[in-house]
Amino acid sequence: MVVKTSIPLVNLQRQAQSYRDAFQASFADLLGKADFIGGAAVGQFEQAFARYCGAQHCVGVGNGTDALYLIFKALGLQPGDEVITSTMSFIATAEIFAPLGVKVVFADIDPCTYTLDAAQVARFITDKTKALLPVHLYGQPADLTALQQLADQHGLYLIEDAAQAHGAKFAGQRIGSWGTAAAFSFYPGKNLGAFGDGGGITTNDAELAHKIRMLANHGRLTKYEHAVEGINSRLDTLQAAILLTKLGHLDAWNARRIEIAAFYHTALSNISDLKLPQLGANRSHVYHLYVVQTAQRDALLQFLNAQGIQAAIHYPIPLHLQPAFAHLGYQAGAFPHAETLSQQCLSLPICPELTMAEAEDVVKAVKAFFDNHP
Ligand SMILES: *Cc1c(COP(=O)(O)O)cnc(C)c1O
Repeated sequence: MVVKTSIPLVNLQRQAQSYRDAFQASFADLLGKADFIGGAAVGQFEQAFARYCGAQHCVGVGNGTDALYLIFKALGLQPGDEVITSTMSFIATAEIFAPLGVKVVFADIDPCTYTLDAAQVARFITDKTKALLPVHLYGQPADLTALQQLADQHGLYLIEDAAQAHGAKFAGQRIGSWGTAAAFSFYPGKNLGAFGDGGGITTNDAELAHKIRMLANHGRLTKYEHAVEGINSRLDTLQAAILLTKLGHLDAWNARRIEIAAFYHTALSNISDLKLPQLGANRSHVYHLYVVQTAQRDALLQFLNAQGIQAAIHYPIPLHLQPAFAHLGYQAGAFPHAETLSQQCLSLPICPELTMAEAEDVVKAVKAFFDNHP
């Protein structure tokens, strides 16, 4: 029988405790300097993260949603313009467009990688399309070669929603350095997470970086002169200092996620009603989430929760069927791959701090479920 246990989806406490001394040094430094906004750590982190991604510039902002919004605002998209993105994502990917008057157009995912399918995108390109916005869902990069090709063919911007895939690579090159710009989230549960909200934009376009920096800081030219109407969306000094410390561990943490995913993959590979994550060609996966698919999803979720294993669903409703986008007029059946995934997906616990014993408990519980529900 399965032992009663308590395994959270992500264990943030364990990480906070393991690096307590380093984090406390950041707090002490902040208390000493009291440079809460715009302190030295912000520029240091921006430089380090740009270098990590292989991009020329990084602009720290308030959160990942603002990062997306600021990219499209700075690109000067106009009311009536269209952006094509994946219907399988967190709502932030799509909710940023209404305030810009931009129409969001959804497309289906590739059923192997769960990321935006270039062939599906091609069906929806019109003369109003201005950009493609793939999402590196669950930590796996979308097919950036195919999407870049399509963007080049039609003169479109390629923007990455990189909020779930810090450190992942496509064709040997880190995400965040492809296309025109990339949006990152440093929400605490992400692969690189702050102690609160945080976000960043990477780009190789110096002018775009400058514009975003200005927009994110009240459209400021100087302290009292504002070139344009901007917003307030800055990365706090404290968050930058925490992120700078954590960035040094990111590759090791991602390696640990990959190790846990490999363990799950081997241990769970012989269950007929369980589809495991698949890796697309030419890329690495950093397993922000380890998402399996089964027709018995709801029963499995209930069973795991009853064992104290916190599995979760990312995401139960694809964006085109969200009430928030009802006005766009999409019907059920429009995007079958995303709809099947939303009905069958289940995220098993994964984070660098998950122990092998805990991973084994998860495997035992999943196997116990399928022994009784073949
Ligand atoms: C987390 C996330 C965002 C938004 O980031 P926040 O920092 O929470 O605003 C955007 N897109 C995706 C795919 C995400 O997972």
